Amino acid sequence: MENLWSQKEAEELVKYYRGQGVGRDIAMRVYSSRLLGGVPDLVLHGGGNVSVKTQEKNLLGQTVEVLRVKGSGWSMDTIEPDGLPAVRLRPLQDSIALDNLSDLDMVNLHRTSLVNSSAPNPSVETLLHAFLPHKFVDHTHSNAILALTDQVNGAQMCEEIFGTRAALVPYIMPGFQLAKSALDVFRASPNSEGLILLKHGIFTFGETAEESYNRMIELVTLAESNIPDSAVSDVKPIPDSVPSHDIGPVIRGRCLVSDRENGEARPFVVSFRTSPAIRSYSLSKEAPRLVMSGPVTPDLVIRTKPWPLLLDAPKIDELSNWADYFGRKLQDYGKHYHDYFARNNSNQQTPKIPLDPLPRVILVKDIGLFALGKDLKTAKIVADLAETNIQVASDAERVGEFESISEKEIFDIEYWPLEQAKLGGAARSKLSGKVVVVTGAAGAIGKATAKAFQDEGAEVILLDFSEERLKLTAEDIGGHPICCDVTKPRQVASAFNQITALCGGVDILVSNAGIALQGRIGEVSDEVLRRSFEVNFFAHQNVASRAVEIMRTQGMGGVLLFNVSKQAVNPGKNFGPYGLPKSATMFLSRQYALDYGGDGIRSNAVNADRIRSGIMTAEMISSRAQSRGQDVEQYMSNNLLGQEVAAEHVAKAFVDLALSPRTTGAVLTVDGGNIAAALR
Ligand code: ZN
Repeated sequence: MENLWSQKEAEELVKYYRGQGVGRDIAMRVYSSRLLGGVPDLVLHGGGNVSVKTQEKNLLGQTVEVLRVKGSGWSMDTIEPDGLPAVRLRPLQDSIALDNLSDLDMVNLHRTSLVNSSAPNPSVETLLHAFLPHKFVDHTHSNAILALTDQVNGAQMCEEIFGTRAALVPYIMPGFQLAKSALDVFRASPNSEGLILLKHGIFTFGETAEESYNRMIELVTLAESNIPDSAVSDVKPIPDSVPSHDIGPVIRGRCLVSDRENGEARPFVVSFRTSPAIRSYSLSKEAPRLVMSGPVTPDLVIRTKPWPLLLDAPKIDELSNWADYFGRKLQDYGKHYHDYFARNNSNQQTPKIPLDPLPRVILVKDIGLFALGKDLKTAKIVADLAETNIQVASDAERVGEFESISEKEIFDIEYWPLEQAKLGGAARSKLSGKVVVVTGAAGAIGKATAKAFQDEGAEVILLDFSEERLKLTAEDIGGHPICCDVTKPRQVASAFNQITALCGGVDILVSNAGIALQGRIGEVSDEVLRRSFEVNFFAHQNVASRAVEIMRTQGMGGVLLFNVSKQAVNPGKNFGPYGLPKSATMFLSRQYALDYGGDGIRSNAVNADRIRSGIMTAEMISSRAQSRGQDVEQYMSNNLLGQEVAAEHVAKAFVDLALSPRTTGAVLTVDGGNIAAALR
């Protein structure tokens, strides 16, 4: 493990924070926290924590001893001074005298000792930091340390490797008892540089940030040198297996969790990941045992569930058989999870409410892993944690025999209210978990639409042919950009493969990309007309047909939305090349409604007109205004309401149609009122 300490960088940060009135201790604490947090082999997604004992002045100008410890919701790699709430040290340390302290009382002690009443909750490992006498304390879930402690004979192995440099703390779940034991262990070995928490992680400490950091790097490096190198070579694929992007929708459509509030079935975002290490692990003869062994460090369990679901790969042309097989395996998993819950809940003082019985990690042999999350961000976190689980367990097997904490200990962590609190409230917006694809996403209407769907909680994929504009759009509003010319079926197929790999499928398609081509119909060239049909008709068919195929594999319905423009019903002069394919696309929308209504797929269109920076260029708008003897402002608001229509109004219509469960085959007008374009 490389030592990244730079005194120059540390001093620069001290100087920077001094300018903001932040003292040296805190600045150094922030510096080394970020160094540690930036290395995934040490710290992943909110794991690990740090502290410094320092002094602060209170309102009366009195000096108070405080512990500045990582607050919940902050990550070590991006921590700021505000992410280190100040807790008065004295009351924390006084609690050493107690024999017991319930979790509720411990959280209360944390919060009532805060200097700032609105600070975030201090880490659940705050007392451990407070009890140790050192100024700086660092805690990570280092992969290398875990590979050595997650062993049948982990204690003995660690004793041999670390000797007197690190003292060993037997596994106890975080909280008061762990803090007390850690202190006892330290007092018995006061010259140690750190504590190895068996089957959990490592603490190091020192009088300076640098000393504690150096000890972390040295002890982790020592651990690494005791793990033989991996011999994973590129495993050969099983011939004729189904590609991962066809498997995602099968998984996604069958892993639904019912919403606690309205009972509606909610999908997950299902993200695919693979590597030679993942594939070789999935094929190993140890895999069936290892997947049932438990997590490599306890707090992963709240995101990954105790075990992944291990499955055989589907053979080509046998995806529907595999879907049945998957359904049965999922039922078995649910039953196993239910039994695990019942077994462990029966001896709880306060009975727990069971969480959903679905896996979060599905490992398909030789293909890779599928990670389930309430959104893409969560799914990617789950995939990262699953990959770490695989890496550490594989490393541990090369050293000896991997062993996690016991089933009861897993349960205690999974159902620990202080861990569940890390996942945040269950408040989900209307479209959370739904995957929306927007074409022409870099244009005004596309961008506004993507934003509107995001605001409802959906995961939005942005498609556009212009890489540059797409990048700017994604930077501006977020969402996942994929560069794609929707007139090219091969590019469309590839884009949708990327989407299913990323999210597991598609729920809503907003087919919006278009081009405004003009010409007097008797004189316009075939080339212009055909070009317009490519973009304004065939491109819609290209994306809709692929989306429908995925939606049918998922088997949970879907929504198609087309931007057809008022030209589809009310031709504009010399605008035939645009209006003709748009009218065909309006018909296309109805045809999809008719042909796929039985699959629960709804198809609707939006009929918009005169959108500034929409499909019509500024020149086209001003020439149209001129030909009517109006200025641009008059022209833009020349409708029944006398109000200009904005891209946001069109976006709202798309969202409304997506949220209207009994509406299909409809065209929704967004033109401020234009009787000539009104549909009957
Ligand atoms: Zn920990």
